[in-house]
Amino acid sequence: MGPDRCSAVRWTTTMSRRDQDKFGVEGGLAFPFELFEATSDCVFVLDADWRFSYLNAKAIAELHAGDLLGTVIWRSFPAAVGSKFEDVYRRVAERRESETFEAYYPDPLNRWYEVHAVPYQDTIVAFFRNITKRRLAVRALLRRHNELDTVLGWAGVGIMQYAENHRLMVINKLFCEILGRTKEELNGLPMETFTHPDDIPRNAELLRKHRQAETPFHIKKRYVRPDGEIVWCSVAISFVRHRETKEPTTIVVARNIDEEVEAQRKAEETRALLRAVVDGADDLIYVKDAEGRFVLVNKKMAREFGIAIGQAGGDRFPDLAPRFTAEDEQVMTTDERLVIEEQIPTKSGAATFLTVKVPWQQNGATKGVIGISRDISERVRNEQALRESEERFRLAAAATGDAIWEWDLESGAIHWSSTAPGLTGEVPGGAIEWWNERVHPDDREATMSSLNAFVQSEGQRWEAEYRFLRPDNSYGVVADCAYLIRDGSGKVVRMIGSMSDITESVEAQARINRLQAELGHISRINAMGTMGSTLAHEINQPLASAGNYLTGLRRIVDGNAPDPASVRRGLEQAQAEISRAGEIIRKLRRLVEQGQAELHPIKLRICVDEALMLALPDTQVRKIGINVDVPSDMTVMADAIQLQQVLYNLIRNSVEAIAQTEIGRIEIQARDRENQVVVRVSDTGEGLQPEVKERLFSAFASTKPGGLGVGLSICRTIIEAHGGSIWAEDTGDEGATFAFTLPAGGEGRPVSPEVTG
Ligand code: ADP
Repeated sequence: MGPDRCSAVRWTTTMSRRDQDKFGVEGGLAFPFELFEATSDCVFVLDADWRFSYLNAKAIAELHAGDLLGTVIWRSFPAAVGSKFEDVYRRVAERRESETFEAYYPDPLNRWYEVHAVPYQDTIVAFFRNITKRRLAVRALLRRHNELDTVLGWAGVGIMQYAENHRLMVINKLFCEILGRTKEELNGLPMETFTHPDDIPRNAELLRKHRQAETPFHIKKRYVRPDGEIVWCSVAISFVRHRETKEPTTIVVARNIDEEVEAQRKAEETRALLRAVVDGADDLIYVKDAEGRFVLVNKKMAREFGIAIGQAGGDRFPDLAPRFTAEDEQVMTTDERLVIEEQIPTKSGAATFLTVKVPWQQNGATKGVIGISRDISERVRNEQALRESEERFRLAAAATGDAIWEWDLESGAIHWSSTAPGLTGEVPGGAIEWWNERVHPDDREATMSSLNAFVQSEGQRWEAEYRFLRPDNSYGVVADCAYLIRDGSGKVVRMIGSMSDITESVEAQARINRLQAELGHISRINAMGTMGSTLAHEINQPLASAGNYLTGLRRIVDGNAPDPASVRRGLEQAQAEISRAGEIIRKLRRLVEQGQAELHPIKLRICVDEALMLALPDTQVRKIGINVDVPSDMTVMADAIQLQQVLYNLIRNSVEAIAQTEIGRIEIQARDRENQVVVRVSDTGEGLQPEVKERLFSAFASTKPGGLGVGLSICRTIIEAHGGSIWAEDTGDEGATFAFTLPAGGEGRPVSPEVTG
């Protein structure tokens, strides 16, 4: 329009004189009315009195007014008064300078006009055109712009368009928020300003490559806000050229993926954690797909079986493949877990595994099987060993008839072995009261307090003997022996004990004790009987002495003036001798008739063992070492009771000789010698006293206070009656050895004649 108008004016200035006349130009340049008619604009001319002096056809049509010529504009168009039209026209008239403006003319035109008002001499030429359509189009465009802005503003993504030199054309609120800057701040800023340094090289490289080809690309990058905060975005970048100017522009669409990145990071963290747990497990952990191929195996599994991802379980163990497949199928079809105890060959031999298989489900569909296998070989072995040991324990308890009990001191419960009823006659109760009620009333307090004291003590082993109610309502004697079990802190938690009925052995011991006393008694009686004749002269001796003293006294008394002192002395000596005889007689008071013995072939070893048992009460056995070197099949011809007496006497002497020393040993040895057997009883005792050495086998030779000194004499009598001999061997300072011989025995050998004392 502008150029058209200019050329029109220029044209008019170059118009010929003739033409100027034709167009009625007054006093100077004439109007190019033809041109006005031909132009696309509407044109009118106002004279100095604001009257229309010319209107082209377009103007007439536009303004719907045929006879405006000569009318004053302010009257014909009253709405122009006070409007922009009047404003500009008057200014142009006054200043004589062109002006272009746009204004709206209301009723009846209701149109927008673009007007170019040009002063010419004393007139104003107005070139104008109806721009209502354009204005509406612009309005619509603006509205669309607003709408677009709203849309961009509402979009869940950041949108930005910039031209060269980073001249920002469009940016929505969200992108401003992402970048932490306003539109104004961003204008002209290069990408590097708000991109994370680590992401710049790649971003720049992609931009360079794609800008050239004008192909869109995508990048995941970090934006950095001025406050340093980082925002992860998924960014789509495309290149478009301006529709009209063809200027290249860049469109950036960014989606904040901070949450996604965070979720992904968390997922990765969880995955790493899970992997660590799975790999760190001592169990075999694996996942198989529906075809039985491994999609996950933990380190242990890979190490133990060399299994790799993608392999099938059956590849490694073809023999087991059908079973594996069948189990997996079952888990997948039933969607239920399966627990299997299975034998699988490992590097260190066949091992027992406890395997749990569960369906591997994803989004509600079963994709395969997850398996966890634990090597329970050791547990199985331990269980087996425990079962065996329990069985052995049970058998042992059953064999001895002991009642085994276990007392949980925390709960107070007592568990008894299945062998208990054999001893108690009933299934025992589970509490301490049951036991306490059955302990003999006289033993109850002592036993209970010993038990209580033990539990409080540092001790480990408790032993007690007490009377306990038996199935027949009598009281038997039990030996109860228990161990304390403590926890890590030393606190007593349990007590395990075994209770055995020792009534019989207690009674047997009592019988032995009685027998021992009886034997001692018998041996003395026997001694007296055996020694009767030997002792006669011993008694004669003091009696003869006493007689001599009395004879002497009589002579003194019969003589003249007997000396009372001599008489007293003689009487005292006689009395002493008589007392001595009386003492001997007292000792022989229990003399009884002696029995008779018969010789039989007897097993020497049995005789020795029995004599040992009689001669060594329990307490002494522990202090004295006994060594019996007697062949078990050795036979001698003897009266068992009398031989036992000999052995008993010799062993007792040895025991007594040892009693003085700290430790001692007795050895009984028997050797064949021709048709005889030599038996030796040696000890490590104090040895023979010199004063008795010569008279050992004589009656009343004793070095012991209160000793009778008849033991060895009896032995000699018995051994000699058996046709043997007895002697003490020379051992120097070392203890004593007594030896005797006996006729060797044999099958079918005739019984010897009677043996008399
Ligand atoms: P008693 O034992 O009553 O004294 P014996 O005739 O059995 O009578 O023993 C006589 C003495 O022989 C004992 O008093 C003791 O001095 C001595 N004697 C016997 N056996 C041994 C021995 N094994 N060791 C040391 N001395 C013994």
